[in-house]
Order: sequence, then structure tokens, then C-alpha cells
Amino acid sequence: MSVLGIDIGGTFIKFCGKAGKSIKKGKVQTEKSVDSILYEIKRIVKNFHPKALGIGIAGLYDKKSEKLTNSPNIPFVEGLPLKEILQKEFNIPVIVENDASAAAFGEYSYGAGKNSKILVCLTLGTGLGGGLVIEGNLISGVSGSAMEIGHTTVNFDGWHCHCGRRGCLEAYVSSYGLERIYFMLTDQKLSSTEIITLANEGKTEAMKAIDEFSEYLSTGLMNILHTFNPDTVVIGGGIPQHYPAVIDLAVSRLKEKAFSLPFRDCQIKKAELGEFSGAFGAMALSERLYR
Ligand code: BGC
Ligand code: ZN
Repeated sequence: MSVLGIDIGGTFIKFCGKAGKSIKKGKVQTEKSVDSILYEIKRIVKNFHPKALGIGIAGLYDKKSEKLTNSPNIPFVEGLPLKEILQKEFNIPVIVENDASAAAFGEYSYGAGKNSKILVCLTLGTGLGGGLVIEGNLISGVSGSAMEIGHTTVNFDGWHCHCGRRGCLEAYVSSYGLERIYFMLTDQKLSSTEIITLANEGKTEAMKAIDEFSEYLSTGLMNILHTFNPDTVVIGGGIPQHYPAVIDLAVSRLKEKAFSLPFRDCQIKKAELGEFSGAFGAMALSERLYR
């Protein structure tokens, strides 16, 4: 394999490698510890023998110190000098990016965002991530922390978010947000996966929960449209992957609340690379190092 991308989340590590035209992808489950994450990354890299490596990781990755400063959903990796560790171990060029930025670049390079001028990508999973690609350039901010859309406030006195603040968009539009919405409706504690399964079976309460979730999502989308006036918004992550109708629900609400001009010119699409947008993006970033 010549290039490899790895996307590190709290539960899964996904990877995508490319040699010539052949692409190979997969995922492994990890335990919540630095050791087990490093062990899996090293195992994957050894399997692929890449010439360059791209990593996407959930959290605010400081481009200057090359360390993750905050990671609301995988806090145990905060401070880890991932680039240094991997470069030393494998002696190849390594690039580390935020996972949702990597996903945006993946969808731009290989998926639903091809040829877009201003692309915003949202990843709806354990957390809520955002990425921005303008005319082919990944915009990750001066320090690498742009597009933390999950931690923009939608409700001053709102629900607790994993980042420690209240009322963040992620507190509603994430797996744990959906679980809480469902709990408020039914008094029952179910996992987001269980709720989505019930919604797919047509169970009223679960569908109601997703409908409410889509209300918050549409507010997030409105803020994005009003800020960036993008031509494309790609929505990825586990939730739309297993319940795509959530996008239509949010878009019909968005139409009612957003200014008509940015709404008119924006296509809102489901991620084409499914749960692998981040791994593809990390791989695409590593291709740039190699060339
Ligand atoms: C983190 C982001 C990340 C997103 C998705 C958020 O809680 O702050 O950096 O991109 O979750 O993993
Ligand atoms: Zn937050």
C-alpha cells in the first residue's frame, strides 16, 4: 500500500489504504485507553506498509504543538503527541487532522462533495463534528480548531454537553443527545442504536425523538447556511447512515427557518462514503505528503 488514512473515534478505528487504484478499508473496535488505540494503529500501519500516513482524530488538534488539546468524547487521548510517536516508530511522513475536517476532505476528494466550491461537512455520531473545504482547500483554522460547530450554543440554559458547557448543538445533535431526547419523551434509557432500530420499525416514540432531533439539526444547518452560504452540505456519521430520513426531516424544517437565498443555492446530501469519510479524508491528506 502506498498511502493510508486512519480515523480514530471513541469506539472504532476505521482505516482506508490505497495502492495504485485498489482501495482497502475496514474497522476495528477499541477499548477506551491510549494503549489499545496505539496498539491498533500500529497494527494497521504494519499491515499496510504505507509511504505516508494520515490520521483523523476527534477533538481540537493543535497544529503548533501537534497534540490534541481537547477531546470531549475521547478525553483520555488529550495531550498525546500522536504525530511524533508514529513518525518515530515508522519513519514516514504523518499528518494529523481533526476527524470531521478529515471527513470533509474525504467527501470532497472521493464522495458527495466532489467539485463543490464551499463544502461544509457535518458528522453526526458520538459527538457532532464539522469540516470546511473551500475551493479544494481544507480550512482548519490558525490553530487547527475551526468548525467546532458541535460546541456552538443553541440554548443558553440547555442540556449539559460533554465539553462541559451547556446548550451546545452537540448536546442535542449527537448519539447522547438523541438518547436524552428519547428519555425526556419516554422516561426510558435506550442507546441511540436501539432508538434508531425502533424508529426504523416505525415505533412512534422513537420516530418522535428523531423528529425532535431533526429540529435541532435544522437550527445547526441554518447557522451554517447563514455563516458560509455553502453550495454543498454533506451530512455523515452513524445517525444519518442508519436513518437517512433524518436529513429530509431537517431540510424541510430548514426551508421554513433559513433565509431563502442561502437555502436556494445549497444542496444538502448524505455522505457517500458512509462511516468511512474520515478514513478516506485522512488517506487523501496523506496522499498530498507523498506526492
Ligand atoms: C469534538 C470534535 C469532533 C466531533 C466528532 C466533538 O465533540 O469537539 O472535535 O470532530 O466531536 O467526533
Ligand atoms: Zn459542547
